[in-house]
Amino acid sequence: MPGSARVAIVGGGISGLTAAYRLRRALGADAALDLFESSDRTGGVLHTTTVGDQAVDVGAEAFIVRRPEALDLVTELGLADRIVSPTPRRPAVWSGGRLHPLPSPALMGIPATPAAVEGLAEPGDLDRMAAEAGRPLDWQTGADPSVGALVADRFGESVVARSVDPMLGGVYSSLAGEIGLREALPALAARLDGGAPSLTAAVNDLVSAGAAVTGPVFGTLVGGYGVLLDALRSAAAADVRCESRVVDVEPAEDGWLVRTVDAAHTYDAVLLATPAWESGRLLRGSVPDLAAPLEAVRAASSVVVSIALSPSTPLPEHSGVLVGTGEGLRAKAFTFSSQKWAHLAAPDRPVSVRASFGRFGAPVPEPGDEPGVDDRLRAEALEDLDEVCRSAGATPVSDRVVDTRVRRWTGGLPVYGPGHLTAMAQIIAARPRRLALAGSSYAGVGVPACIGQAGRSAAALLDDLR
Ligand SMILES: Cc1cc2nc3c(=O)[nH]c(=O)nc-3n(C[C@H](O)[C@H](O)[C@H](O)COP(=O)(O)OP(=O)(O)OC[C@H]3O[C@@H](n4cnc5c(N)ncnc54)[C@H](O)[C@@H]3O)c2cc1C
Repeated sequence: MPGSARVAIVGGGISGLTAAYRLRRALGADAALDLFESSDRTGGVLHTTTVGDQAVDVGAEAFIVRRPEALDLVTELGLADRIVSPTPRRPAVWSGGRLHPLPSPALMGIPATPAAVEGLAEPGDLDRMAAEAGRPLDWQTGADPSVGALVADRFGESVVARSVDPMLGGVYSSLAGEIGLREALPALAARLDGGAPSLTAAVNDLVSAGAAVTGPVFGTLVGGYGVLLDALRSAAAADVRCESRVVDVEPAEDGWLVRTVDAAHTYDAVLLATPAWESGRLLRGSVPDLAAPLEAVRAASSVVVSIALSPSTPLPEHSGVLVGTGEGLRAKAFTFSSQKWAHLAAPDRPVSVRASFGRFGAPVPEPGDEPGVDDRLRAEALEDLDEVCRSAGATPVSDRVVDTRVRRWTGGLPVYGPGHLTAMAQIIAARPRRLALAGSSYAGVGVPACIGQAGRSAAALLDDLR
């Protein structure tokens, strides 16, 4: 059967497309791979579109190149020559009405020394940090506090709000108080489990180890993620059915029945590459024990406002701005894309900026709940950007806008709260035969992690089919 297997893939984001590609490679040309996608396009949170006549990513815009999954996939698809590294410019942190250098040395915003956050953290917290190594650390092996709780206890609240929140918020769309230590910083948790006497010692160990690794941390693709999506879709050669929302998945004979709004099809196997809460909803009727914890995963939403400014508009000399919690701006971050990525900068091309809004616990209203909300976000993005420019001695830019685009990512990311990874690993281990789970909910939110999890899920289904 494997060569003639019929497999349904639900969800056409990077996870579903990667899984379809891996299945095609393993099963060959005769396998029937049907990919169901509820929206009118594949790619999910990866979306390259045109803003000011320039191809830009309005969802994810980069990937970590220090882990192999995305690099390997891009290379396998013959796109390695599209990978570019960021310029040396660094993001700044917005706090107290001005820009501060990004704390360094630090581990995801957790400073290794008080000097790393001097001028940013409260003076009392600098003293607290300086004394931390001498304070007894009551660490239980296997503990999974939130990153925010641990850092606030050891280094102080201002370090969390002005250094850790801005870094983690950009990745997880959640504040540090909502994010589990083992989920976001497993190596730090391992150091503490291993007996590090203080947070200072554990962070310094890891920062020193990291300093030995050279080369860029991030990369992106010339042409945007759309280039990868096109190549993946073509190599997967799946029957892609957009605007086909799956509403139910249930066991049938030796496989699974997949129901859309207007049809039902049986398959030898099914791979759900939808967010955990959606996969839970699909399995509620047939595998309730698995569905309940999946449905319990919480969703964080955000909105990206992409702005094209007229060519050569000057911006502060940074790759972007990360906004401290409670620091007055409505945007939570800016990416100065044309300054971060050299291939987006040219004297005759618009200057690209992205503003991000919303996070878990503080979502941006939907247009149905607040008519005109997108116009408000556009205006707020530009007002905030002008304020940042003024504070840095640059000219305000809001009169140089040539195009904008608002892209909403409702439920775009799962919340990686304490205990999340353990709960997800248990679900993956308990999956029924011939049903696999992939996506950003299970083993990390980044694109490389999604690609890795999709590969493992496809491999597990292949084992079942054989
Ligand atoms: C704004 C933003 C910026 C980000 N930036 C980065 C970054 O720079 N680098 C990085 O590595 N990561 C980034 N991430 C994270 C990363 O982009 C995502 O975790 C990843 O793309 C998720 O891919 P996925 O395929 O698992 O899920 P998704 O992209 O969410 O895809 C799931 C798909 O399933 C479909 N679907 C849902 N329900 C159904 C159903 N019932 N039937 C059929 N189809 C269904 C959806 O329409 C969607 O297309 C970012 C995330 C966000 C939200």
